[in-house]
Amino acid sequence: MTARSISEPARQTPVIHETDVLVVGSGPGGLAAALAAARAGVDVTLMERFGCFGGNITVVGVEGFAWYRHEATVEAGGIGREFEDRAKAMGAAVPESQSLSYELDSEGFKLVADALVLEAGIHPMLHRHFVAPIMEGNTIKGVIAESKAGREAILAKRVIDATGDADVAHRSGAPTFKTPTEEMQAASVMFHLADVDKKRFLEGVRSDPQTYGDWSSGEWVVETDGKEDDMFSPFLGKPFERAIRDGVIPAHLNTIGGTWGAVHDSGEMTYMNLIHLAGCDGTDPDSMTRFEIEGRRQAMHAIDALRQYTPGCEKVRLRNFGMSIGIRDTRKLDAVYNMTEADVRHQGRFDDTIGIYPEFIDGYGVLILPTTGRYMHVPYRSMQPKGVRNLIIAGRAIGGDRIAHAATRNMACCAVVGQGAGVAAALSLRNGSGFDDIDISSVQKTLEAQGVRIR
Ligand SMILES: Cc1cc2nc3c(=O)[nH]c(=O)nc-3n(C[C@H](O)[C@H](O)[C@H](O)COP(=O)(O)OP(=O)(O)OC[C@H]3O[C@@H](n4cnc5c(N)ncnc54)[C@H](O)[C@@H]3O)c2cc1C
Repeated sequence: MTARSISEPARQTPVIHETDVLVVGSGPGGLAAALAAARAGVDVTLMERFGCFGGNITVVGVEGFAWYRHEATVEAGGIGREFEDRAKAMGAAVPESQSLSYELDSEGFKLVADALVLEAGIHPMLHRHFVAPIMEGNTIKGVIAESKAGREAILAKRVIDATGDADVAHRSGAPTFKTPTEEMQAASVMFHLADVDKKRFLEGVRSDPQTYGDWSSGEWVVETDGKEDDMFSPFLGKPFERAIRDGVIPAHLNTIGGTWGAVHDSGEMTYMNLIHLAGCDGTDPDSMTRFEIEGRRQAMHAIDALRQYTPGCEKVRLRNFGMSIGIRDTRKLDAVYNMTEADVRHQGRFDDTIGIYPEFIDGYGVLILPTTGRYMHVPYRSMQPKGVRNLIIAGRAIGGDRIAHAATRNMACCAVVGQGAGVAAALSLRNGSGFDDIDISSVQKTLEAQGVRIR
């Protein structure tokens, strides 16, 4: 880190737009927040740094939206469920291999998100990167964005930080935690394949079915409840073990392995979640640069191994990488209430619940699937920053410890949180309150009217 710095000259920045609610970031958290706020009757603007809405779904290629769902799973419904249903209706989802859910098509979901945003009357702003909050004392009044048009100001009565990394909260001075880099969940370069022989591939899967118990092979030890161990998982580990044994890929790449997503009649196999890059800091562009390049290199090794050792993959080729490396774990809000491991493991219950989420924990070496009807409440206070007024968080950066995050980071939970944040933003404006003195029962009633199960 350099100690050198320069002084930038003060400047006049044009105000290009004013809105009731500004949502920064459009992943499952931000998209749900924008839709919920717009449907609750206020003007909403959705800002996104890339050229599509959807966040990790469309930018990284994370297609497994609800792969945890089984017969007994109890869920919130709401906008998260709508993402799946709408994707299915628009031909942008296929049945998912291990669950009672639909796998989203990361390209098709760009169109689904466009349709949802435009139908709700949300003002779309793609290609604008949030760079600074506009503060008056401890109240956020809007944001500064950078784009090809230069530096611009957008004023807003309420701001929802859905950047995933708590960028807005952090720069506004709200306290956040960052997992130490060496303990962060690994980042992944995601890729999709072409020219798979679907029939032969699925025959291979059927003749040697893998389970969640197989996740504890090689490099990893994954704690389960035991009930998960014999259940089918679309896991790929053996081809890479054999490739290392035969010297096809270097021995130190024993972290290659993971899951495949959907295999299509066209010969495409998507959402190849096989590359795990420990030590990548998603808030450090130098680190991300290094791991983007390293991840692509490792993906090509993985493809070599699949070609040689996986039936039906003899002729596979790379179709595309995700537009960006996938980041799982960075800053989290030090919220008014930080969720705990006990909350997600033992069905936490809260008076200020804004939605429920099934007992699904996936991360930091823990995998618990909601095959029972167990679920937790998500408390409103976990979205509330300390010390900054008119700002709330949606998505994976809500307050919580490591294991809590392994549950709340999941996309369907981010959508529950987003919907709660969006309704809270709209009602706080309509009722003239702040986020800290909001009437939580009216937020809950509006969420229920929007189809969310909150208890
Ligand atoms: C490789 C990988 C695999 C995963 N697999 C699964 C899975 O199978 N199932 C599951 O449920 N979850 C999975 N996850 C986790 C899940 O994808 C994320 O936790 C979730 O998408 C977070 O949602 P979010 O809305 O908070 O943020 P994101 O989806 O990250 O969206 C944030 C959005 O904000 C935008 N943004 C960020 N900063 C700025 C800025 N400064 N200015 C403007 N825009 C900005 C980004 O471009 C992005 O569009 C996976 C994650 C990764 C990385």
